[in-house]
Amino acid sequence: MASFKPLPNMETGLHERDRAGVQDFVLLENYESEDAFIGNLKKRFQENLIYTYIGQVLISVNPYKQLPIYSDAHIKEYRNKHFYEMPPHIFAVTDNAFRSLIEENRGQCVLISGESGSGKTEASKKVLQYIAACSGHQTTVEGVKDKLLKSNPVLEAFGNAKTNRNDNSSRFGKYMDIQFDYKGAPIGGNILNYLLEKSRVVAQMGGERNFHIFYQLLAGADATLLQELHLERTLDSYNYLTDGVKGSVGSINDADNFKQVQQALSVIDFSAEEQREIFAIVASILHLGNIAFNEVEGNAQVNSRDLVVTVSRLLGVNASELGAALTHRTIDARGDVVTSPLNHELAIYARDALAKAVYDRLFSWLVQRLNISLQAKETRGARNNVMGILDIYGFEIFKRNNFEQFCINFCNEKLQQLFIELTLKSEQDEYRREGIEWIPVEYFDNKVICNLIEEKHKGIISILDEECLRPGEPTDRTFLEKLTQKLADHHHYVCHEKAPIQVQKVMGRDEFRLVHYAGEVTYTVNGFLDKNNDLLFRDLKETLSKAGNNIVRSCFPEQELRSKKRPETAITQFKSSLNNLMDILMCKEPSYIRCIKPNDLQSPGIFDDQLVLHQVKYLGLMENLRVRRAGFAYRRSYELFLERYKCLSKSTWPNYKGAGGAKAGVQLLVKDLGYNSEQFKLGETKLFIRWPRTLFDTEDAYQAK
Ligand code: ADP
Ligand code: MG
Repeated sequence: MASFKPLPNMETGLHERDRAGVQDFVLLENYESEDAFIGNLKKRFQENLIYTYIGQVLISVNPYKQLPIYSDAHIKEYRNKHFYEMPPHIFAVTDNAFRSLIEENRGQCVLISGESGSGKTEASKKVLQYIAACSGHQTTVEGVKDKLLKSNPVLEAFGNAKTNRNDNSSRFGKYMDIQFDYKGAPIGGNILNYLLEKSRVVAQMGGERNFHIFYQLLAGADATLLQELHLERTLDSYNYLTDGVKGSVGSINDADNFKQVQQALSVIDFSAEEQREIFAIVASILHLGNIAFNEVEGNAQVNSRDLVVTVSRLLGVNASELGAALTHRTIDARGDVVTSPLNHELAIYARDALAKAVYDRLFSWLVQRLNISLQAKETRGARNNVMGILDIYGFEIFKRNNFEQFCINFCNEKLQQLFIELTLKSEQDEYRREGIEWIPVEYFDNKVICNLIEEKHKGIISILDEECLRPGEPTDRTFLEKLTQKLADHHHYVCHEKAPIQVQKVMGRDEFRLVHYAGEVTYTVNGFLDKNNDLLFRDLKETLSKAGNNIVRSCFPEQELRSKKRPETAITQFKSSLNNLMDILMCKEPSYIRCIKPNDLQSPGIFDDQLVLHQVKYLGLMENLRVRRAGFAYRRSYELFLERYKCLSKSTWPNYKGAGGAKAGVQLLVKDLGYNSEQFKLGETKLFIRWPRTLFDTEDAYQAK
């Protein structure tokens, strides 16, 4: 066997293992130790190896610097390679999914999770980059690809903002479907958006900004456009921009980005008229924020008539009607129509609600409009050829957690359910298919928490909705009382009254705590009712439903006013959009990308062990690894395995020529390697090895000889 020929895949594996940890956590000796887990991630991170697997799950640690690993040459290298042949990479995961899609005609989804700033959105762009690069170059698809790629800058301008965690933080959830023809060329796409953080339109925390588009418009619009929109370039002029960061942010070039957005809008076929209307709406919100009120005998009066005129010009509504709508409220109680004036506080509330609603609906309109452009011209035979990419907010545990965190964490509970269903189930399915005895492994099923939140009539959402609709004077406090009344005995609900002393000390009386799968989160009920009701006074809706600005008019349809049904609450809308998403994802084959943020400073080279450990825990990675290890961590078709390892035994080197084909060859091979029957199983088409480590050690020893 003098002519030992090292094969490239294990070469890479071994070298990397020696140089920088293991590239698949299933190979980690001390796999139940969190320290060993973090140690491996850290070692690799320091070598700029930001990707590591747990089986097929990709873990990605944000490098906060450009690494030379995403070039076209890299794309070529990963194209059509077996998953384990190359070092871990997002391109490998994408290639794997893409090939299953094309070769097996199975719908795919790439699920990207992680906390804010961990690199989800960048990862989703890499997936898109790979797909665009390796899927045909006919001119017919170039247009589609261009539009798919150009949808990003548009969505980011309107949906992203600088936060304290991420200078370009997505403030909405996004699911994008890409449709392919049978040859694997993209022919269309569709985007679903989830829960935009619209409160940002009217207020920002210190150090943060409003949505990028406001700054882009002020910095990038030419003088004519500014004049048309009655805007000045100075940020200080606008109340909605003055809470957060003053001035510009080093990492962001608003003027340049505005040009990009304009260019992208044109590529996606937005007409000049549509673009004008979009920016008129953005400008109107800035002006709206400057409208102030006086109070005379308890009644609010607009004290800046000229601004009301400006806003109404931009939106194409009647100025005196808008003025009246900002200061009055009409209630239609079963035909009894009563109009009453608002006080100062309520007028401010109405104004801000208007700004938020207009922006929120503009955003949804943009997504719909993008979808019209992305729609496949030809959908015949392309039903299953869909790859979805989900880039959605990760679990959030802040010092103070509000309605938004409640929604986001609920979303993550649902995604965890999906993870359990899809990965554990598919694991079981494979064992069954291969005729291998399956030993179920213990894991925490978070269904109980999903139920606590969403069960009909009993769950938190039902209780919240009931309280919102109840006549009388429901408040956040009465909501909390109801919760406690009904849920105090639930194992995953903690109320102040029944909490252990040490928890009581840190919990306010306006808080409740949920024991999420990822950890305990304490929520403040303040604002829950308001945000859930999401009330925009009727008078304002009516004014907008007649707007001359076509986008505004279509965003506030008249039917909505005529409908006798109460509009769905925010959480109920969110719940149904999530369940809809689960249905979409459930019938697809998933690929998981788990993103990790190495430090809170957005800086390269710094690996904060504690911060990473926290994420490893709540992403459930230790459990993920345990489950993967409990089964057969390594599996490979007989042919591939034999080809790869035939050099390790005289019976199979240089070729196995006996009867029984590859399976028989592998049987001989594993016997020669000294495996006992506990360590491996022979399936129908694949070999399964429980502890692949021994295999690699054997090869180590062999190579050392
Ligand atoms: P998230 O969507 O999870 O909030 P982003 O994808 O926006 O996070 O990433 C935050 C920032 O981190 C990006 O703006 C970029 O500067 C940096 N970053 C993320 N992933 C990578 C990567 N793979 N390579 C280089 N920089 C990255
Ligand atoms: Mg993001």
